[in-house]
Amino acid sequence: MRCEDVALILPRAVDVGEPVDESVQHHVNSCLTCQAELAKYHKLLKALRTMRHQLLIPAPGTLAMTLAALQESQERRAIRSLVTGRRGAYLGAIGGAAVAAGAAAAAVALARRRAPRLAG
Ligand SMILES: [Zn+2]
Repeated sequence: MRCEDVALILPRAVDVGEPVDESVQHHVNSCLTCQAELAKYHKLLKALRTMRHQLLIPAPGTLAMTLAALQESQERRAIRSLVTGRRGAYLGAIGGAAVAAGAAAAAVALARRRAPRLAG
């Protein structure tokens, strides 16, 4: 068995805990390169599991800046539509801005509601 062959098997074996053939196990036991790879996989999975429980809190003002940027973008699009005479696009742009603002507000409200549970 070669290291390249083992490298194809190790990620799945580590990720799902799938048992490996005896030949793979024997190679890993006797190969420092594959042992190092195995240690890297374990370390990576541990880091990923840790990230599941980390709460990312947006910087103050992020919501306001996002909403302002969305509104500005939609307003520019609406003005452009008016200039070119496309009223349907204007109404669509206004509706799009309202939907985007609502979605952003809902996402932040949901994140705030979840925050105490995750932090504790
Ligand atoms: Zn090897």
